[in-house]
Amino acid sequence: MMNDPTLAPPYDVESVRADFPILQQEHHPGVSLVYLDNAATSQKPVQVIDALDDYYRRYNANVHRGIHRLSEEATAAYEGARIKLRRFINAGNKREIIFARGTTEGINLVAQTWGRANLKPGDVVVSTQMEHHSNIVPWQLLAMEKGITVRYVPVLPDGTLDLEAYANLLRDEPVKLVTVVHVSNVLGTVNPIAEMARQAHEAGALILVDAAQSAPHMPVDVRALDVDFLTFSGHKMLGPTGSGVLYGKRDLLEAMPPWMGGGDMISRVSLEGSTWNDLPYKFEAGTPSIAEMIGLGYAVDYLTALGMERVQAHEHTLTAYALDRLAEVPGITLYGPDASKKGGVATFTMQGIHAHDVAQMLDAEGVAVRAGHHCAQPLHDRFGISASARASFYLYNRPAEVDTLIEALYKAKKTFARS
Ligand code: PLP
Repeated sequence: MMNDPTLAPPYDVESVRADFPILQQEHHPGVSLVYLDNAATSQKPVQVIDALDDYYRRYNANVHRGIHRLSEEATAAYEGARIKLRRFINAGNKREIIFARGTTEGINLVAQTWGRANLKPGDVVVSTQMEHHSNIVPWQLLAMEKGITVRYVPVLPDGTLDLEAYANLLRDEPVKLVTVVHVSNVLGTVNPIAEMARQAHEAGALILVDAAQSAPHMPVDVRALDVDFLTFSGHKMLGPTGSGVLYGKRDLLEAMPPWMGGGDMISRVSLEGSTWNDLPYKFEAGTPSIAEMIGLGYAVDYLTALGMERVQAHEHTLTAYALDRLAEVPGITLYGPDASKKGGVATFTMQGIHAHDVAQMLDAEGVAVRAGHHCAQPLHDRFGISASARASFYLYNRPAEVDTLIEALYKAKKTFARS
């Protein structure tokens, strides 16, 4: 029922907000918190906080090892989260869901296992100019080790990818892997992943998708997109820090060597050598983030009950409103495409005021935004700026919070004009 937005009740942002204890507090005495830093990390609903509390109070134990009741309960909850996450992204099999600490770890895992095993000097990995550093640096490290080349798809002035340049790279270079962000954490651009995957496959390359800013905000279906790897972070989607997922197609994961060695990832160890456990455990060495992954399962329950289409529609309305209102403020430059082509991110600079000063003055008004390069320095270089301010929205934000942001920006302008 909830998957059909026409049958669902109207989106009730106030009842959503009531689930988030942090939103009930004052940011400063007498000033309410307006939390617009969701692209950095999201707040947590009471359902997730209670799940962590319940685990530690009632059934804290290591997983997969103990024969005792507590360990069995912890294992069932932990593996239950895997099943929820499989459904959440429509993977074909729960063995394709590797638990990782987040997007950064997911990308590094692919670089260090698939990349090390399959790439040779002269091979090309295609990334883009709009990537987060966590989808640039792992490939640069691999390039130093393996002699591969990393090429970058340029970003056009409107904040979208130059897809002609992408097609040319695939045609002209020995591309083995395309690694691309689904939704830019700075521009909000939603990249055409299904089409990019089709083109990559046609050229004989695999595709890895950084879904850190898409999985929390919109429906993501790995089979409909036909991607080979996809990774995201739990903390950006109502879950705890230290939780996340790397999805990979089963045949690829089966063929890949393990990454970290240790407990749980082995089948048999002798002093002469070892054999590996089955998927997904081959890639999950050591005691995992048990409470965190259970908590992420509860976050997925929460998102699924709301419906990802409705979450996306709510954020779209907020973003369109924010972009319209920001465009009214004199001296503001906005970055990225218009609301129809982007997720819930509004990034801007203000003439004559450094982004850090903007963020500091907004903070005094209770508005939390991010300022800096947002771990995307090449993208800021592309637009000739060193820093920007970013307001990013989530399922609990209200239109009135956009108004507070705009009023605070006018106030900041006035203060700076006086100084
Ligand atoms: N990719 C994108 C697009 C992001 O926005 C982020 C986090 O800001 C990351 C990757 C890295 O995520 P994490 O630090 O959770 O590993």
